Amino acid sequence: MIKKIGILTSGGDAPGMNACIRSIVRTAFKNNISCIGIEYGYQGILDSKFRNLGPEDVRNIIHKGGTILKTNRCEEFKKFEYRKKGIKNLKKNNIEGLIVIGGDGSFIGASIFSKEFKFPVIGIPATIDNDIYGTDYSIGFSTASRTIIESVDKIRDTASSHERIFFVEVMGKNSGHLALNAGNATGAELILIPEIEMKNLNILTKSIKKINSKKESLIIIYAEGCNLGPIQKITKHVENKIVGSNVRFSILGHIQRGGNPTEKDRIISSLFGYHAVCELKKNRTHIMIGIQNNQIVNVELEESINNDKEINKELINLSSIINNY
Ligand code: ADP
Repeated sequence: MIKKIGILTSGGDAPGMNACIRSIVRTAFKNNISCIGIEYGYQGILDSKFRNLGPEDVRNIIHKGGTILKTNRCEEFKKFEYRKKGIKNLKKNNIEGLIVIGGDGSFIGASIFSKEFKFPVIGIPATIDNDIYGTDYSIGFSTASRTIIESVDKIRDTASSHERIFFVEVMGKNSGHLALNAGNATGAELILIPEIEMKNLNILTKSIKKINSKKESLIIIYAEGCNLGPIQKITKHVENKIVGSNVRFSILGHIQRGGNPTEKDRIISSLFGYHAVCELKKNRTHIMIGIQNNQIVNVELEESINNDKEINKELINLSSIINNY
């Protein structure tokens, strides 16, 4: 039976990671499995940044954003010679299995490492983008959505008082799940996401003009990965083309990554952590723990990595009917 496991957080941080670490450590403790916290993601494996984690070490963290284990991006881990050094470090410390809390990129690294050295690895999806295939939900999405919604509600007040057109840029380099969700929750008149290309700025301006003629103010949620380019340029273009308009933008930036996790992020993180330890104990490897239709599921890492999560078409439809009439 497995006696010692390692935990790391990798890639972009997401609120709820700490709740997940806490759950892993305490579940392992109940099962007589020792836990090693690996700091700074995969870099920590290469540098042997290991520390023991017992149930007391994870006290008072369930409500904290960020990750007590720190996170990092590690280019060296993409090279075999470094991964070889990594496996030696894990074995030297008697670590027999690994739980990786992270996004798509982290799972690619986990999958390669697990296959290369036949080393047990389990992934837990954590990204505010919620764009991981095979799970309805990824840790951090609910908290980031809450932050965006609170911000947009405030922007709406000033946009409405000054009768302004407001672009609000949210995170999402390759996916629009956050933008679509927050856009619907705030009643944004337009939601622009990377999955739906806008042909050019003139077409966008035309749509804005049409809605603006019926409304005093307007909110446009703009996912950062949209194809029309920097928001500053778009704002200028729209203001120049719509006579008498008053156009502003706001880039929400890194506030979307922080903050105390919502109830959903605390509970799902805890469930994911618990199940990951149970699966490792049963000698399951090379899987991601996910949630589908309110059930915790195991998904092959390969299946998750090799597929793209589809955008929720119902939310696109809903927005076009009730926010943009
Ligand atoms: P996320 O997990 O949030 O998607 P990244 O895409 O930055 O974040 O990936 C996190 C880390 O995963 C990278 O810094 C690297 O250490 C590891 N990783 C990503 N792709 C690979 C790969 N092809 N081979 C090995 N490791 C990888």
